[in-house]
Amino acid sequence: MTGMSASPVPLPFDLSTRLSRRAQGMNASAIREILKITQRPDVISFAGGLPAPELFPLDEVRAASNRVLDVYGPAALQYSTTEGHPPLREWIGAQAGIPAANVQIVTGSQQGLDLLGKVLIDEGDVVLVEAPTYLGALQSFRPYQPRYVQVPTDEGGIDVDALEEVLNTTRAKLLYAVPNFQNPTGRTLSAERRRRLVELTARFGVLLIEDDPYGQLRFTGEAAPSLYSLGLELHGDPDRNHVIYSSSFSKTLVPGLRDAWVQAAAPVINKLIQAKQGADLHTPTFNQMIISELVQDVLPRQIERVRQAYGERARLMLERIRADFPDGVQCTTPEGGMFLWLTLPGGVDTQALLPRAVERKVAYVPGSPFYALGGGENTMRLSYSNATPEQITQGMGALGDTLREALAE
Ligand code: PMP
Repeated sequence: MTGMSASPVPLPFDLSTRLSRRAQGMNASAIREILKITQRPDVISFAGGLPAPELFPLDEVRAASNRVLDVYGPAALQYSTTEGHPPLREWIGAQAGIPAANVQIVTGSQQGLDLLGKVLIDEGDVVLVEAPTYLGALQSFRPYQPRYVQVPTDEGGIDVDALEEVLNTTRAKLLYAVPNFQNPTGRTLSAERRRRLVELTARFGVLLIEDDPYGQLRFTGEAAPSLYSLGLELHGDPDRNHVIYSSSFSKTLVPGLRDAWVQAAAPVINKLIQAKQGADLHTPTFNQMIISELVQDVLPRQIERVRQAYGERARLMLERIRADFPDGVQCTTPEGGMFLWLTLPGGVDTQALLPRAVERKVAYVPGSPFYALGGGENTMRLSYSNATPEQITQGMGALGDTLREALAE
């Protein structure tokens, strides 16, 4: 027998006392805990932010994998450069009208957020975030010990007047925003506000992180220019752009290959490369090659399919809310992406209500974990991407009943 001694020696110290201060600042994602209870097979879950697996291009991925092995041979399975697979970086750069040198491939945009936190945030730096914002970003940045300041939002996204007031009184390092079909609200930043946001942050010397995994998934309305492109317009040079852009193939192709990217000016991208080297050397070679095979033909078709399906699901969910839900419940009207956001009359606590929804076999995510500094107890996020139309009809009926009962009390 190896490794185990017959009479174990008790450990003379408590292992948890050896964790770094940084690690002690980490917390289990509130959502991950909630998802555990909502994953019972008999529960219709609008809680997780998962893409629809029945839309994954399985045959195309299989064919691309074979082609990659045929074309690249062992190189497909070898270590490769930290910056990423050159043809994939070239393709992304060409789409954005920038050199490949300004593109860093990352292992999911979640890694991009972590690495950006690592290279940009010092302890105590003020990080401005939307209220509410993407919980995963809060989680990625938190170990780098920022001081979060919330910026109010409304139907049109970040309230830029409120932002200007904040900037006048607070010295901020960066602003993190999800301008298209935001996770968690589904809201989109209006075109006018985009210009002001880019100009304001430039004027106050604040870096702007534009996290955009959903931008391609617009099913209605007109696309607005990316903050990154507005930054390019303003500064005229990708190496002077104060906007850092992050996007991903997770929602347009598949999340499991963990392929995403960051676009940034040289001083940021060069540090990002060094940080990534320390994190995982590079994003899996084989995965990047597969994605690179898919971007030409499969990606545009896949985007169309996903848009159509999510558009139908969103419309159906909104229809059920309008028809079935009690008065006083407000919801956002997403023009793309995977989420919508409900606000209940004050006094209803969606966290406390969740077990009663689960009893009726439906689940959602309570809204308050999406607020960096608390709030939103009467809000919830619903995801329509991972439920079939039948599940949406049935689940929304059950949720409507839960809310009616809660509001009658
Ligand atoms: N940013 C936002 C706003 C997201 O919603 C997500 C996925 N839930 C991510 C980043 C992470 O995506 P990935 O790591 O799969 O690219």
